[in-house]
Amino acid sequence: MLTRKTFHAFRSISGPPKKSVELPKYDLVIVGGGIVGCATARQLLIEKPNLKIALVEKEKELAVHQSGHNSGVIHAGIYYTPGSLKAKLCVEGLDLSYEFFDKEKIPYKKTGKLIVAVEQEEVPRLDVCVLNSTIFKK
Ligand SMILES: Cc1cc2nc3c(=O)[nH]c(=O)nc-3n(C[C@H](O)[C@H](O)[C@H](O)COP(=O)(O)OP(=O)(O)OC[C@H]3O[C@@H](n4cnc5c(N)ncnc54)[C@H](O)[C@@H]3O)c2cc1C
Repeated sequence: MLTRKTFHAFRSISGPPKKSVELPKYDLVIVGGGIVGCATARQLLIEKPNLKIALVEKEKELAVHQSGHNSGVIHAGIYYTPGSLKAKLCVEGLDLSYEFFDKEKIPYKKTGKLIVAVEQEEVPRLDVCVLNSTIFKK
C-alpha cells in the first residue's frame, strides 16, 4: 500500500545514486502524484496487491497542481457526444466517484448544474446540451 511514509522514503533517495546505496526495486513506477497517478496506483494495487509500485512526485505533497486546484465538479458528460467513449467513461466515472465518496464517507453536494449562454452565439450550444441530457437520461 502506498502510504505517505513510503512516498517520503522514496523521495529521500532521490539525487544521483551512490555506489554503496542499494536502490529499492519496483515492478512499476508511476510518474506524477496527481489524481491520475494516484488513482492508477490505487487501482493497480486493488487488482494486483503484490505489485511493488513507486509513485514519483516532484513536489513535497501529492496533488498540489491541477488535482488540488480544480473546481471540484463531478462532470456529467453533458458536453460530450452521446455514445462516445469520452461520454461513457465520464458517466461511469461519475457513478464510481459517488460510490467511492459514500464508502470513504467523503462529503459532497449534488447541486445540479446551471448552464447559461453569455454570448448570443453560445445559445445554439444550449440546444445541444439539452439534447445530450435527454439522450443521457435514457
Ligand atoms: C482551473 C481548472 C478547473 C478544473 N475543474 C475540474 C472539475 O471541476 N472537475 C474535474 O473533473 N476536473 C477539473 N479540472 C481538470 C482536472 O483537475 C485535471 O484533469 C486533473 O487534475 C489532472 O490530473 P493529473 O493527475 O493528470 O494532473 P496533475 O494534478 O497536474 O498531476 C500531475 C503531477 O505530476 C507531477 N509531475 C510532473 N512532472 C513530473 C516529473 N517529471 N516527475 C515527478 N512528478 C512530476 C506534478 O507535480 C503533479 O503533481 C480542472 C482543471 C483546471 C485547470
